Amino acid sequence: MSPASGSEAPAPEQAAHRATGSPEPLVRALALVKRFPAGTLDLLGRKRLFVSAVDGVDLEIWSGETLGLVGESGSGKSTLGRLLVRLLEPDAGKVLFAGQDLLALRGRVLRKLRRQMQPVFQDPYASLNPRMKVRQIVAEGIEIHRLARGREKEERVVALLEMVGLGTDALDRYPHEFSGGQRQRIGMARALAVEPRFIVLDEPVSALDVSIQAQIVNLLRDLQEKLDLTYLFITHDLRLVEHMSRRVAIMYLGKIVEVAPVEALFTEPLHPYTRMLLSAVPTVSGAPTNQRLRPLGEPPSPLHTPSGCSFHPRCPYAKDICRTVEPKLEAGRAGHAVACHVFPAP
Ligand code: SF4
Repeated sequence: MSPASGSEAPAPEQAAHRATGSPEPLVRALALVKRFPAGTLDLLGRKRLFVSAVDGVDLEIWSGETLGLVGESGSGKSTLGRLLVRLLEPDAGKVLFAGQDLLALRGRVLRKLRRQMQPVFQDPYASLNPRMKVRQIVAEGIEIHRLARGREKEERVVALLEMVGLGTDALDRYPHEFSGGQRQRIGMARALAVEPRFIVLDEPVSALDVSIQAQIVNLLRDLQEKLDLTYLFITHDLRLVEHMSRRVAIMYLGKIVEVAPVEALFTEPLHPYTRMLLSAVPTVSGAPTNQRLRPLGEPPSPLHTPSGCSFHPRCPYAKDICRTVEPKLEAGRAGHAVACHVFPAP
C-alpha cells in the first residue's frame, strides 16, 4: 500500500509494525498486475480481450501476522495469493520477500527462497497425489530440498504428522482413505515439511463442515504460534476472518478497497462494499446495523470494469466524481485505509 496521509496518523504499515514488532514487511506487493486472456473481439483474433484479475495492488504482510484477504468470488484474491508465492508470474509490479525481489531471482537462490513460502488450497484432495502414500506426500519436499535423509527423514515425517494431529497409522494410507478435515491436515504437514515462514491459505476450510472448520482454524492458529508463521488467509467468509486475522484487506474487482485492523473493520467498516459484505453475515461482534448495506445488483463482468470507482454501479452513495475518478487507497488513523471519495479513513 502506498497511502498518502497528510495527518499525523500512522500509515497501516506503521500500525502493523507496532502490532507485530517486525522491522519490515515479510511480504510486499508493489503495483502488482495480472491479466488473463479472455478471447478476442473480432473473428480474425486481432483484438484480444484481457481480464485484469489483479489490478495494481500494493500490500504488506508483516512477520508473524495473519492478514485476512476477503472478497466475492472473482475478486482476484486467489490470483493475488498465487502471485505472492510465485505460482503465477505478474504482468507488472514486484513481489518482495524479506526485502528481496522475488521476480529477479533465479536458480538456487530462488529455490531456497520459495521453500520459505508455501500454498495450502481449499481442496486438499485435488492437490494430494492419489497414488502416493501419506509418508511419500509429506516426505517429498524434504527430499527435493535435501533437508534430511533416511531415518532422520522418517522421524521428521512422523513429527510433522503428530504436529497436525495425525498418528503414525496415517503413514501408509492413501489420501482417499481420509476425511476432508484429515486431508487438510495432511496438506498442512506437507507445507510445513519444508520449514516455510509464509503460508498462503486459500479458502483452507471452505469445503469443510462447520464443526471441522473450527478444528482446522484452531490447528492453524496453534501452528502459527508454535512455528512463528506468517499467513495470508484468503476467504469469502468474514466470520472466519474475525477469528483468524489481525488485519483484513477487502478486495473488489482486482483492487484492494479497504485495509483495517480486524476490530475496526467489524465495528467501523467504511467502504460501502465492506458494509455490503458485512450485511450478508452474522458475526460474533456484529457490525452496527447503520453500518450495514443492502447490495445493489450483481458484480459487473470483469471484462467491462466500470470507470472511476469500479463499485459505483452497485453503490447507493455514488456521486458524479465516483463515475469518473478512481479513488486511491488512503490511510487514516490506526492503520485504517480506504479507497472511497465519500467515506475516507478518519
Ligand atoms: Fe461508492 Fe463513490 Fe465510495 Fe465508490 S467512491 S464506494 S461509488 S461512494
